[in-house]
Amino acid sequence: MKYALVTGGSRGLGKAVCLKLASMGMPVIINYQSNGEAAEGVKAEIEAMGGQAELMPFNVGKMEEVEAAMDKWQDAHPDDYIAYLVNNAGIRRDNVMFMMPEADWHDVINTSLNGFYYVTRRCLPKMMMRKHGGRIVNMASLSGLKGMPGQTNYSAAKAALIGATKALAQEVAPRAVTVNAVAPGFIETDMTKDLPQDELKQLVPMKRFGKAEEVADLVGFLVSDAASYITGEVISINGGLY
Ligand code: NAP
Repeated sequence: MKYALVTGGSRGLGKAVCLKLASMGMPVIINYQSNGEAAEGVKAEIEAMGGQAELMPFNVGKMEEVEAAMDKWQDAHPDDYIAYLVNNAGIRRDNVMFMMPEADWHDVINTSLNGFYYVTRRCLPKMMMRKHGGRIVNMASLSGLKGMPGQTNYSAAKAALIGATKALAQEVAPRAVTVNAVAPGFIETDMTKDLPQDELKQLVPMKRFGKAEEVADLVGFLVSDAASYITGEVISINGGLY
């Protein structure tokens, strides 16, 4: 069976993506770091709609944890593989550069960029062997395209993820695996709840923050058969804010 793995699937964009992929008939593996209660809630929602879901907690930024969780899953699923991977887990630790603690620089890059590397590297061999059209979608950001003041760490991590998306897309295209990135602007989730929304939405041509479900619909399209010839792309979803 072909499974979908969504990192950071317990809340926000990842949760909406889990629900979307389940609604498309995919069995979903919900990764999260620490919020088991929220992840259980996503699993219950998927099961209530007749879908199939399982939990896979690990810190995407710790290679040993990624490897151990993947080994355990593969042992329990010898005939299955992860055909759809959404690298969504990410954190913000905003600060002006001259005051940014070293830990905040490294933690943000470790989660978004090294996390992408650890999880994707592990999923690729099976995806490339099957020739059934594997799909990888990386959650980048508008910050990675234009750079945001106060977010040098986050902008660097997301810009690097975009570079990696384009390089990997060319590597694995001969195996019918597509690799794309999604670059959201301001979306209503826990990550943005401390931002002054009334002020910031005035910057958005559509005058509102996006909804997690709107991003999930885009991810759903990118993993679908309809997107089989799209690879190495970065698709913005930002209400017109560039
Ligand atoms: P969120 O509401 O803060 O949720 C973050 C999710 O990532 C949670 O499920 C969390 O798990 C998980 N996570 C965090 N660190 C992790 C780690 N080291 N290992 C595994 N899971 C981890 O964030 P969001 O707004 O949904 O953002 C999701 C992605 O979209 C991020 O990559 C973010 O950079 C990107 N993005 C968001 C926006 C926006 O406006 N919201 C805009 C552009 C890009 P726990 O529940 O266990 O903590």
